Amino acid sequence: MHYDNHNIFAKILRGELTCVKVLESKKVLAFMDFMPEADGHVLVVPKEAVAEIFDLSDIAGAICFHTIRRIAIAVRAALKPEGILVTQLNGVAAGQTVPHVHFHVIPRRADEKLKPHKRVIAKLGKLESIAQLIRIQLEQSS
Ligand code: 5GP
Repeated sequence: MHYDNHNIFAKILRGELTCVKVLESKKVLAFMDFMPEADGHVLVVPKEAVAEIFDLSDIAGAICFHTIRRIAIAVRAALKPEGILVTQLNGVAAGQTVPHVHFHVIPRRADEKLKPHKRVIAKLGKLESIAQLIRIQLEQSS
């Protein structure tokens, strides 16, 4: 997949588009997916401008993994799901729709089906209130 500097996540990283942030550092941004597959669906996005995992530097990958784990622990504490799914898609054939590498952290419950990928836009108020629960856990763990 070709890196397009005008992709949605590049715009969010540059502050040209808003998002509901849960964590930001020099190298990574984590924010609520606005079409969540389950309540509490968080995206972890490295600031390095690459489309797929093949081009991600080792250091950015390590920072992403550290952040994914922190987010997963915070989501687990905040929302108490039965499980947490971590996914990352490379290429259209794999289902990737945004050409800036990113990771999904999705809370799972055995009796709840995932909502379809990129279909239903969540209410901003709901995203904000879930994000706040996650931020509280992140603050307690830092
Ligand atoms: P992909 O299909 O590339 O793995 O995932 C892209 C994800 O980004 C989807 O889950 C989609 O809901 C989410 N997404 C797409 N555009 C935006 C946006 O503008 N803001 C937020 N917060 N999420 C987005």
